[in-house]
Amino acid sequence: MDLNTLYRTVIMDHYKNPKNKGLKNTDPYHLVHLTNPSCGDDMRVEIVVENGRVIDVRQDGKGCSICLSSASVMSELLIGKTVEEAKDIIQSFYSMVKGEELPDEDKLEEAIAYKGVRDFPARIKCATLAWKCVERAIDEVEHHE
Ligand code: ZN
Repeated sequence: MDLNTLYRTVIMDHYKNPKNKGLKNTDPYHLVHLTNPSCGDDMRVEIVVENGRVIDVRQDGKGCSICLSSASVMSELLIGKTVEEAKDIIQSFYSMVKGEELPDEDKLEEAIAYKGVRDFPARIKCATLAWKCVERAIDEVEHHE
């Protein structure tokens, strides 16, 4: 199996069997809703931060396979991370899809599957929508505390 096939498999697996899907709509979950009009993606992400750590991430949305699978990958990757680690991973993900060289790709784990998005600029917003949601959610929670 070549690398591109492996990446496609990760994306399709998360698209068909999304992790952490479905919102709680209750305290202490903090919700951020963002859309990507260029593709029609509509994403909601909820997080819980406790003692500087992301203890839960929920996601739900409508859209293309890149957007929806990326939300699933993001949720799995960020649960359990400290806020600082999560912010670092989010920025690394943005750098990767923009085609920048990363000193340490390993921390992106399965999210590496979206590396090919850099060759399709129109899909960058699809791949990053859920990440923009969680980034804003972390920011809002931090400024609330
Ligand atoms: Zn999309």
